[in-house]
Amino acid sequence: TGGGRGIGKQIALRLAEAGAVVAINYRSNSTAAEETVQQIRATGAQAIAIAADVTYGVDVNRMVATISSELGPIDLLVNNAGIYDLVPHNETTEELWHATIQSNLTSAYLVTWAIKDSMIERRFGRIVNIASVAGLDPRPMSIAYSASKAGLIGLTKSVASALAEYEIRCNAIAPGLIQTEMIDGVEQSTIDTLIAATPLGRIGTPHDVADVALFLLSDQSRFTTGQTIVTSGGRVMLP
Ligand code: NAP
Repeated sequence: TGGGRGIGKQIALRLAEAGAVVAINYRSNSTAAEETVQQIRATGAQAIAIAADVTYGVDVNRMVATISSELGPIDLLVNNAGIYDLVPHNETTEELWHATIQSNLTSAYLVTWAIKDSMIERRFGRIVNIASVAGLDPRPMSIAYSASKAGLIGLTKSVASALAEYEIRCNAIAPGLIQTEMIDGVEQSTIDTLIAATPLGRIGTPHDVADVALFLLSDQSRFTTGQTIVTSGGRVMLP
């Protein structure tokens, strides 16, 4: 989901390169999604773009039905679509709260639920949820975002434990600061402070996240489920 640009785009390209047939979901930026599809097709791999707002169940079900009929059953799912808020507590409105939870958490529930029965039937499925270090180490200016990503890490564990008996694995990636349009609104001074607090001394790239996604979606991680892999250059470390 959200595969037309940013982290989702790089994951789509990486998966196609590794031999996957890819469906790229987007909400409104059809130009970016079509460009990504063309980039993939230029390598000889197969891809389609499909519009759907993943916060709406009706849209999600229609998307999954279209992908399944055009490309076949879905083996790999990356719940990547998301939005970011950068506001203090007194600007965290009910509207912002609902929009953030729906975009970052409800969306993953809806898409997973639209696909899981087919995965159960075939006893095969691999799911990766793109969370954030904010879900582990919340920041004061991203209250709804941090809560949504903590929820997504919780959903990852619930899905992993409920669906393991059907050979379905579910893991999360918690990226640190990654260079995409999402961080356009973050001030350079904040970025510099975060880089200074990062042992590997740089901001991340979508490639950094895509390589971890490929690992979690491949057989190389066959004994790994319910985990959150932090990809933050060492800025956030799990105990
Ligand atoms: P981005 O460049 O802003 O891209 C966001 C993508 O999500 C776009 O493709 C957008 O579609 C899609 N999207 C948003 N809401 C949607 C909806 N309701 N339905 C369908 N698609 C929707 O962001 P990014 O940096 O690549 O972020 C990708 C994921 O990584 C997000 O979950 C984000 O929270 C997470 N993350 C990012 C960072 C970072 O520093 N960048 C750090 C940690 C975690 P359109 O193209 O159609 O608008």
